[in-house]
Amino acid sequence: MNLLSTDRELTRNSFYAASVRREQAFPPLRDEVSCDVAIVGGGLAGLSAAIELSERGFKVVLLEAREVGWGASGRNGGQAIHGLACEQSTIEAQLGLEASRAVWGMTLEALDIIKQRCQQHQIDCDWQDGYLGLAINARKATALQDWAEQMASRYDYPLRWLGPADLPAYIKSPRFHSGVYDPRSGHLHPLKYSLGLARAAAGLGVQMFEQSAVTRIERGASNTVHTDHGRVKARQVLLAGNVYLQDLAPALAERIMPVGTYIVCTEPLAPGVMQQLIPSRAAVCDTNFVLDYFRPTADDRLLYGGRVSYSTVTPPNLAQSMRDRMRKSFPQLEDVTLEYSWGGFVDITMNRAPDFGRLDQRSGRSEDAGIYYLQGFSGHGLALTGLAGRLVAEAIAGDAGRFDTFARLAHHRFPGGRWLRTPALVLGMAYYRLRDML
Ligand SMILES: Cc1cc2nc3c(=O)[nH]c(=O)nc-3n(C[C@H](O)[C@H](O)[C@H](O)COP(=O)(O)OP(=O)(O)OC[C@H]3O[C@@H](n4cnc5c(N)ncnc54)[C@H](O)[C@@H]3O)c2cc1C
Repeated sequence: MNLLSTDRELTRNSFYAASVRREQAFPPLRDEVSCDVAIVGGGLAGLSAAIELSERGFKVVLLEAREVGWGASGRNGGQAIHGLACEQSTIEAQLGLEASRAVWGMTLEALDIIKQRCQQHQIDCDWQDGYLGLAINARKATALQDWAEQMASRYDYPLRWLGPADLPAYIKSPRFHSGVYDPRSGHLHPLKYSLGLARAAAGLGVQMFEQSAVTRIERGASNTVHTDHGRVKARQVLLAGNVYLQDLAPALAERIMPVGTYIVCTEPLAPGVMQQLIPSRAAVCDTNFVLDYFRPTADDRLLYGGRVSYSTVTPPNLAQSMRDRMRKSFPQLEDVTLEYSWGGFVDITMNRAPDFGRLDQRSGRSEDAGIYYLQGFSGHGLALTGLAGRLVAEAIAGDAGRFDTFARLAHHRFPGGRWLRTPALVLGMAYYRLRDML
């Protein structure tokens, strides 16, 4: 199944697409060009790498199958949060405490990268400080508090603890018991950010092509990247195509699983109402395995995400079931109109740690040398993609130390092969959902 074509319907009714005008279109590739690095994918990972590489003097060509920001990068919840999708303990278990601390520090650098890029390239994407991680009951609150204590003592990252009495100053919802607040994380309009990065990359001299799906990569002394109507000769190639790459790099596809996640967005709320829901205006996530995530938009809508699908089929009655979820958090919104609903795929890995590396190490084929990849953000890529782009640029420029910290992480393939891995994953996730409910 080609997700590049089946995924189209999911983008149709997006608040982001409706609230942004694409002022800059890039032409399709029509002939042959050459460069140092060809990047496949115009999402945040590819765009970030393009900026970092061209800042280091490389000649870069970026090829995007649809439009820049068309994938997860232009449709996500907009939450830029510290850390990775997995716990730091997963990293500690594999790399030890010192390297895990270095990784944590890099995830904070990822937040700084967003702010620096917005300033440097004058990207107005509605940045708002603040993130709330919330527990829905006392048992989960204890686990969250333990985690926060670990983060303070082992990672020197104290988070503000909010007990039941503190919570209403940040969020007024009957669903939540207590939580943590992080002023350094925050949220933004991800499509505005993606388009701002595309403008910055083009301004730095990156040759950008849209409607230019890469169909194959011919290996040799240099690589030739083919699209339907053109080709790029490149010394090195970066694959940043998320779940859509599939047959282009089967050795990578089996390390990630496309999981659908969905978002609805209300009409603008009446003046003063948002202050009664989320006075802190923070991005919010609960701590469930299949989590709800939501935030105010700059024009006072509530953007509410949650629900997952493991089959790549959009769940039936999506808007209604999302409304039910939203109502549990905010019964005050009983009658509000949902103006938009959309979704997209996240690239989850088995252990939810990101998966960066070199293709030859995964495929075992020496002819894949010189091909790098970034994937496996596992639903936590808004900030991390910025860092990933920086690390791969460092590696291509000859300093692979930080990139290799991530490349050393071991990942397992999803069990069940191409056809049976979905049922296997559904079973696995059912277990975690049950754990959330209990
Ligand atoms: C609904 C949703 C909500 C999310 N919410 C959050 C959130 O709140 N916070 C957070 O941190 N993360 C969130 N994420 C995850 C985050 O959006 C992603 O981790 C991140 O955007 C991944 O960026 P990317 O560049 O790797 O992939 P993408 O943005 O998907 O970009 C990949 C691009 O590659 C192109 N491509 C693929 N194959 C080819 C090819 N053969 N030739 C040319 N181009 C190709 C695609 O068209 C696509 O544009 C969410 C994701 C979704 C879907």
